Amino acid sequence: MATVPRRECSLSTIWSPDDGVERVLFVTAHPDDVDFGSAGTVAAFTRSGLEVAYCIVTDGDAGGSDRSVSRSEMAAIRRQEQNDAASEVGVMDVTFLGYPDGKLQPTFELRRDITRVIRSFRPQRVVTQSPERVWDRIIASHPDHLAAGEAATCAVYPDARNPFSHPELLDEEGLEPHTVEELWLMVAPEADIAVDIADTFEQKIKALRCHKSQGTNNDALADRIREWATETARNSGMPEGSLAESFRVVHTAGDVRRLAGEQVVDENLVGVKDVVVVDVADVAHRRANDLRTRRARQDCGRHSQQPQGHSQFDR
Ligand SMILES: [Zn+2]
Repeated sequence: MATVPRRECSLSTIWSPDDGVERVLFVTAHPDDVDFGSAGTVAAFTRSGLEVAYCIVTDGDAGGSDRSVSRSEMAAIRRQEQNDAASEVGVMDVTFLGYPDGKLQPTFELRRDITRVIRSFRPQRVVTQSPERVWDRIIASHPDHLAAGEAATCAVYPDARNPFSHPELLDEEGLEPHTVEELWLMVAPEADIAVDIADTFEQKIKALRCHKSQGTNNDALADRIREWATETARNSGMPEGSLAESFRVVHTAGDVRRLAGEQVVDENLVGVKDVVVVDVADVAHRRANDLRTRRARQDCGRHSQQPQGHSQFDR
């Protein structure tokens, strides 16, 4: 069979640790999702001194294939596996919301529970699963992933920043509104930022191996993850042989209605204590970059699809 030459695509910004972000919250549906999609990035963040926390929405109790293990037992196993995996990449703050695996919906209650974590941890960046189904990689688009991504997106905007969303969080728990400036989406149709994980790849593999109940402790999986990371780096325009994870970035504090003047305040934030002042020149620059990236991605077509990982073991 003839080989179709791969087109060169230099599409992605490469993440740099000097971007001013101090705290990052990862929100994913199942134990192991964050490790398949992002553990190299998590390790890069923690190595750079960022504080990272996880919010795992379900217990993963529908995972695994051993029918002799009760589902409640499986949930306990998977919590421990996720805690072990988190410690491999420098994360000690793991919140389990305890929703049942396989039935997740982006309910108002789930949005509230994620909002609670956001207002408590107060991250500048939230990383979650894309709420958009990727038809070319449907295994990555497990319905629970879509639901977790949708609920986390709604929690970032508007719930966490709006004092009148989930008023009990403020009135009864004293959790002040908080604006998350960036939302990063895993396995998104259009990734536009890549994180170099060459130095943290082995940590990612160690984290993945912790999920023994899901059959991840094998060399074949490690080889496959390396292939995915290599492909992601290539599609991101990084030098041949690089390893990367990639994401779609959404600037949630950049919803600027007025572009006159040197600085504007997002109208959504008026009246909120945690006001973000947006530099319009920076917003214009970001928008121009976003536009260039999208046009380039259209030119590159299917080669821009990142193979970034996700468990084939999800139920
Ligand atoms: Zn999953």
